[in-house]
Amino acid sequence: MKKLTAYWHRLTLKRKWALTSASVLFISFALVCVILYIAINSWLLNEEKTSVTRSMDDLTAFFETRGSNLTINEMQHNTGLMNSIVDKDQTVRILNTDGIEILRLNNTSEEIPDLPQNIPLKGYTIQQVKVDGADSFVAIGHLRLGNFDGYLQLTHPLTSLASLMKYILTSMLLMGLIALIASWFISSALATLLLQPLKRLSSDMKRVAAHRFEAPIQVTVDSQDEIGDLVKVYKQMMTELESAFLQQQRFISDASHELRTPIQVLEGHLSMIQRWGKDDPEVLNESLMTSIDEVRRMKQLIEELLELARHEAKDISQGAIVAEQTEIVMKEMKTIAPNAEINLHYNEDFHNVRVMISENAYRQILHNILQNAVRYTSSIPSINIYLTFDLNNCTIVIEDNGIGMSPESLEHIFERFYRVDKARSREHGGTGLGLSIVKMLIDKYDGTLEVSSALNEGTTFTIHLPLFLVQESI
Ligand code: ADP
Repeated sequence: MKKLTAYWHRLTLKRKWALTSASVLFISFALVCVILYIAINSWLLNEEKTSVTRSMDDLTAFFETRGSNLTINEMQHNTGLMNSIVDKDQTVRILNTDGIEILRLNNTSEEIPDLPQNIPLKGYTIQQVKVDGADSFVAIGHLRLGNFDGYLQLTHPLTSLASLMKYILTSMLLMGLIALIASWFISSALATLLLQPLKRLSSDMKRVAAHRFEAPIQVTVDSQDEIGDLVKVYKQMMTELESAFLQQQRFISDASHELRTPIQVLEGHLSMIQRWGKDDPEVLNESLMTSIDEVRRMKQLIEELLELARHEAKDISQGAIVAEQTEIVMKEMKTIAPNAEINLHYNEDFHNVRVMISENAYRQILHNILQNAVRYTSSIPSINIYLTFDLNNCTIVIEDNGIGMSPESLEHIFERFYRVDKARSREHGGTGLGLSIVKMLIDKYDGTLEVSSALNEGTTFTIHLPLFLVQESI
């Protein structure tokens, strides 16, 4: 069995297909043939038996109408009438009680069949026995004519039935063989035809993989069936994979570029300290200050990169009370930008509204947006936060009076390392990752984010987060 399973696993899909359909076809054909064969055989046997019964009944009726005064001698000279009763392939014998033949009609079988043990006194028995080496029906009953006591025996050979059945069997075997060969060829051809798109798909996959996902996808399938669906899914998957691959490559090159800058600055200042810093306290102090700044920047960059790379599971066990968490972030912000004006607006009934997000994630989202609102402004920052909710969602609107962004810039602000003004961002300790983290977190917690902005007027971020609905226990 193990060998058979291993052999099956080694077969190609085409072979498996052809083998299965050919076997199913052949087995069904064989089953129909067997049932047909048995049905024909039993029906024909029944016909033969009916013929024996008819001859025996007619003979018995003949002897009964002739009466008890009919002698064997008369019968021997009068066989014509009896001959018309029996079929020409049936042999009729009248035997005495010792089983010696007294009279015989026809001679289709030489051998006198053995007398059975229990011959009924009235009527007759029919048995299927071998006579002259061939299957035959033998009917036997008691015969009393005047003072003669003996048996009436009829032998009905089944040779024509046997040869008919042999002919049917040979034809069926021959037809079965033809059906097997035909079904093998038809199944193979069908399998080749149906599996052709899969073959093309697999060679296309190999080609794309060999070119490290950079080669274009070429396979096309017009069919609307499962294989057509598979090719569609493959193409879709490959496009996504390709863009993820390119995005990853860009991310790695951007990240290494961003990390290289502070390291180079650090290296320069450390060399300066080594050369002149020992003797010049001013150089030493300035270089140390700049180095500390760069190390801080690097630390922040690494932390944000790790935040993006970490794929932590969602934590929605508790949810976050929006008003409470917003106030915590506002307090933090006030310590960073004491001159910023941040106002929070919400109705009384909003007080305990909870959203499906972890407190940490919510605070980080708000922190990044508020930090940008404080950073990218040319006047005193004035920020308004509006909190509202409906049946399913909570809406958080953050409005600032900053420098705003052009529609072209707005399209890219969620891309990693994108900065409208690189120098300005760097000056404020920006890394270009803040909004990417915001987007990633909002997506993770099934929220949505919209931004609208106008140059020199300000920017508005609108966040929708699903409400945390507590299932009331009865
Ligand atoms: P950064 O660390 O540079 O702030 P972000 O991903 O947080 O990176 O933001 C990307 C860019 O989008 C910023 O560099 C900035 O140019 C622009 N930006 C973000 N928020 C605002 C805002 N409130 N007003 C104006 N420009 C903004």
